[in-house]
Amino acid sequence: MTLPSPDGATPAMAQWFSLKAEHPEALLFFRMGDFYELFFSDAEAAAGALDIALTARGTHGDMPIPMCGVPVGAAPSYLARLIRRGFRVAVAEQTEPPRKPGKGGPKGPLARAVVRLVTPGTLTEDELLEAGRQNLLVAVAPRAGRGAASHGWGVAWIDISTGTFETASIGGERLVDLLGRLDPAEILAAGEIELGDFASRRAPATVTPQAATARKRVAETFQAASLDAFGTFSDEEAVAAAMALDYIRRSQAGRMPRLSRPHPHEDGGILGLDPATRASLDLLRTREGGSEHTLLASVGRTVTAPGSRLLAEWIAAPLTRGAAIAARQDGWCWLVQEGGVRAALRQALRGAPDIARALGRLSLGRGLPRDAASVRDGLAIARRIARALADGRTAPPALVADAASHLGEATALEARLNQALAEDLPARLEDGGVIAPGFDGELDAERALRDDSRRIIAGLQNDYAQKFGLASLKIRHHAQLGYVIEIPAAAAGRLRERSDLILRQGTASAARFSTDELVGLDRRIAEAAERAAARERLIFAALVREILDDPGPPAIAGALARLDVLQSCADLAAGGLWCRPEVTDDDAFTLTACRHPVVEAALPRSERFTPNDCVLEPAQRVMLLTGPNMAGKSTFLRQTALAVILAQAGLPVPAKAARIGVVDRLFSRVGASDDLARGRSTFMVEMTETAAILNQAGPRSLVVVDEIGRGTATLDGLAIAWSVLEAMHSTLRCRSIFATHFHELAELAESLPRLSPHTMSVREWKGQVVFQHEVVPGSARRSWGVHVARLAGVPEPVVRRAARLLAGLEKDRAVGARPLPLFSAGEARANDVGAKEAGAKDVETTQSGPDDAGLPDAVRDMLDRMNPDELTPRTALDMVYALKKLMLEES
Ligand code: ADP
Repeated sequence: MTLPSPDGATPAMAQWFSLKAEHPEALLFFRMGDFYELFFSDAEAAAGALDIALTARGTHGDMPIPMCGVPVGAAPSYLARLIRRGFRVAVAEQTEPPRKPGKGGPKGPLARAVVRLVTPGTLTEDELLEAGRQNLLVAVAPRAGRGAASHGWGVAWIDISTGTFETASIGGERLVDLLGRLDPAEILAAGEIELGDFASRRAPATVTPQAATARKRVAETFQAASLDAFGTFSDEEAVAAAMALDYIRRSQAGRMPRLSRPHPHEDGGILGLDPATRASLDLLRTREGGSEHTLLASVGRTVTAPGSRLLAEWIAAPLTRGAAIAARQDGWCWLVQEGGVRAALRQALRGAPDIARALGRLSLGRGLPRDAASVRDGLAIARRIARALADGRTAPPALVADAASHLGEATALEARLNQALAEDLPARLEDGGVIAPGFDGELDAERALRDDSRRIIAGLQNDYAQKFGLASLKIRHHAQLGYVIEIPAAAAGRLRERSDLILRQGTASAARFSTDELVGLDRRIAEAAERAAARERLIFAALVREILDDPGPPAIAGALARLDVLQSCADLAAGGLWCRPEVTDDDAFTLTACRHPVVEAALPRSERFTPNDCVLEPAQRVMLLTGPNMAGKSTFLRQTALAVILAQAGLPVPAKAARIGVVDRLFSRVGASDDLARGRSTFMVEMTETAAILNQAGPRSLVVVDEIGRGTATLDGLAIAWSVLEAMHSTLRCRSIFATHFHELAELAESLPRLSPHTMSVREWKGQVVFQHEVVPGSARRSWGVHVARLAGVPEPVVRRAARLLAGLEKDRAVGARPLPLFSAGEARANDVGAKEAGAKDVETTQSGPDDAGLPDAVRDMLDRMNPDELTPRTALDMVYALKKLMLEES
């Protein structure tokens, strides 16, 4: 976007050019009275994105200046749309009050300054935020030092809408995993740092401070002498933290939101999930970006926005420490038993406001009266919940007890807010009436003065009507004229002569007069109202300070969020269909009658979900799963991965029982994800993802993969699938499920002792294939591809032709005795897989028949001539006898 040169600009436009130069990467919202106006390329971009009229205002260098504008009152919704479309917006306000005309004083445009930079990672308004989702600004700084061993990152993440502030120092390869988990709205990272799929969220031009400066700056932000006061931070963590703070300070024009003290995380303690795994599992969002049909949606029974944010965090970052997982489980299991407490808790939480976000706005001076009320109401609800929790028959477990211990805090603040805030709050502070009567004597006095004068005016209407003998006389308040006497134009004539009446305005229908008395009262009202408003602003600001200085509200907000997540789990588990998994420190893995919560919920009412067991215990830790398409393989793979995520997030699992030895990294590659947009072929993507697994998975990992090798020619694909399977079995020694359409691989069970072949059971019924969605030991004999093609509506002649071709091909393979060269006995031995007699199973697929289509000519002719739709049961039966006879004759 190129802008014209500012030379020759009018004074107002010169001001615009200089503010725009401070934020060239942002659209400039330039305040003009009741509008934000945009000019030049900003106007063109915004008019397009917002679908509003593009006009012109004045000229610059003899060319009209393109312009569009949005009303100040409606700005949040326009901002929301622009931010969602990837724009950043600099908001320039008038920083001096409007001047009264003709009073002298300074000339030229009013002073203006950018008071805020609105960027995706620095939002606070409800209109701009998703209630149930964190909105993180993430900063990334490289670890100093050379060599692969020191390769690593400092990462800091802040949600200014809630005050969350955390950091971590992580190994080099973990960055994309962490970004995947945090799903940042905006990333601060030097241009040379690879961000993979997150590159589009990088903020323009970031500055990386020196470590010493960074430590000092972070400490100063929290008025601490040293950063060490908050924990142990690596240099790179401190640098990332300072980057984030600097960016926020700049975006808020120097104001700092309320932030919790930075909390450093150790590397580890969190289940490793790479972005491909997250994408394949639809944890918080589906691949299309929706929030329906996700794991979060299927387990979420939270009733507050902070609760759903926390639940999303738990799902995004499952744990690896048994004790921490058990603590969460203890929490909700207690609520399952204590049904009464659960019901009371759920009921009370329903009304709980979003205290954290209210605090965020209040701390940036953007708080509305209702934000203060949210804190007040939240504190009252917390007290009620504390009482409900004390009603349990048994003592609450640690997590609940800890939350309960915070709930009674801030009772003094609650009482104060109760006294201070009026019952019916206006939307905005400027509307007046925020502070309750009786709270502040001075405010009451100003209000009384104002209201007395109003009462006097109301009384005057009668007096004047009598005095001037005009029953139709009214006293009205007029925006420009203040209080005036208004009478119909027809009656105005005889009053014009009176010296005690001053004509202010005459229209065709009415005349407006004032009197000295009215003018005096009007001034008194205006002045008292002005003083009352100023006093109210002062009191509100003091209240906000009291709120922000009290450590109670943030602690209570955190406790309520945790309780909401726990009651959500309890509500889910109370139905009896979700279990508390046993999470162990060994390498156990048994899921009993496990289900896929999202697929289950999406099934039509008439269909039941078939639960399946999954056993990957040490003696059979690699499951080879074969079966036709549509039989339920991907569902089974995903539900196994989801069970691990839920279990380690400390949540209930959709199974009868589950025993899971803690998984350190989970890899899921299910469902083809073409990545053509990035110029990589499906096969390249597949191999890159396979490489990631082979390079990172270990004995504590779980790998679920679907159709490795499908993206290339059969022999290539089979060879690759084979060697990957061997590597997983014998080298990585991870627990895994390997789904494949290479049925041949099942034979490896003879040489790979921990391989357990399973297949999706399929029945043929009346010539149709019926999927039972049941996982059974064994391997698929056929792929049923031709049947699936029929199901999908491929025209019948094509399906029949395919069936014939298949029969021929299968016969060829049988005749050749060695169906695929890789399976020759010699190859197998050379591969050190162990010798086995290859080819034996192929006998099963051998078809007898004299011709290359696998059927006797006579039979084929008869079948070709027949049209099933025209057969009566009787002729069909005759036909079957005839066919049978023909077959017998031929063989
Ligand atoms: P595949 O990966 O073998 O092609 P999917 O796992 O995609 O098959 O399953 C296909 C469809 O079958 C699913 O969309 C679902 O409707 C149904 N399905 C899968 N597993 C089950 C099950 N265990 N119980 C009931 N229906 C299932």
